[in-house]
Amino acid sequence: MQNEKAIILGSGPAGLTAALYMARASLEPVVISGNELGGQVSITNEVENYPGFPEGTTGPELVERMQKQAERFGARVLIDEVTEVDFRKGSPFRLKTHGESYEARAVIVATGASPQRLGVPGEEALIGRGVSFCATCDGFFFRGKRVVVVGGGDSALEEGLFLTRFADSVQVVHRRAELRAGEALKRRAQANEKMSFLWDTVVEEIKGNGKVEAVRLRNVKTNETREQATDGVFIYVGHYPNSDLFRGQLEMDERGYLITDERMMTSVKGVFAAGEIQDPIYRQVTTSVGQGAAAGIMAERWLEEQS
Ligand code: NAP
Repeated sequence: MQNEKAIILGSGPAGLTAALYMARASLEPVVISGNELGGQVSITNEVENYPGFPEGTTGPELVERMQKQAERFGARVLIDEVTEVDFRKGSPFRLKTHGESYEARAVIVATGASPQRLGVPGEEALIGRGVSFCATCDGFFFRGKRVVVVGGGDSALEEGLFLTRFADSVQVVHRRAELRAGEALKRRAQANEKMSFLWDTVVEEIKGNGKVEAVRLRNVKTNETREQATDGVFIYVGHYPNSDLFRGQLEMDERGYLITDERMMTSVKGVFAAGEIQDPIYRQVTTSVGQGAAAGIMAERWLEEQS
């Protein structure tokens, strides 16, 4: 059993920033990476909206720098995955990974959210090569291009509208003939001349050699399939917070997002949360970094109060 002052679950921008703050407070935090070192941004090729990088940077470079900065002050990043937590008895909290058991006086949960994938051939291989889950991150690279947006919810329309600033055409492909999105967004999207809608249609395959070139579409009513050329596929079929591990132990909303108070504390004292695991709204690297800093500061104060 390893005894630690603080353990941070997740190595995306929120987790690494919380680690930086706790490390600078000499708390020697341990970051347990989760299954994707660096989190969602590590699969984003180019990041142009992170302040301080006027020429832009890449997702992997940004998180590598965040990791190095936290490590410089004494944080340890372990490539492992937490498989079990026990928060029920309060601090010290118990955690298990694949290979180790831990006790920690404070915990920060920064396990993030994952975009729901379509699960069709070509999707995985072409991520970052025309397949994207983030218009804010990647929209700029589609200036003058044709893109397809999959989904009929608020995200699909909001992000689709954002894409009209760059792309020549944005075609929303939705599996039903009725949008799930709210009225205001619906009206704005339908009034935008660059946007068009393809109803009762699903994407069955994303095709391309090194970059997206086409999608294979199927009309769910007629079963007819056809191929359509496109430069990009933006997928908005929902997000899911990575909170299964905490079910029954931390309060969460009906979608599984952890509930935090203004100090980033969850329903268990000494367990804090930051980033997309508790934020269904902003989903930006910049906002996750801010929430990570806040959680790091508050966890440090909480530990101080307990000693
Ligand atoms: P969502 O509301 O769950 O919508 C997901 C969309 O993807 C639905 O239209 C769904 O179709 C479709 N879909 C799901 N699985 C699919 C699949 N396998 N293949 C094809 N299509 C599939 O998700 P969201 O748009 O990300 O929104 C999440 C939450 O955030 C919502 O509560 C939303 O209101 C909120 N939000 C609000 C705003 C805003 O107010 N400005 C912006 C973004 C998000 P069906 O409709 O047939 O189920």
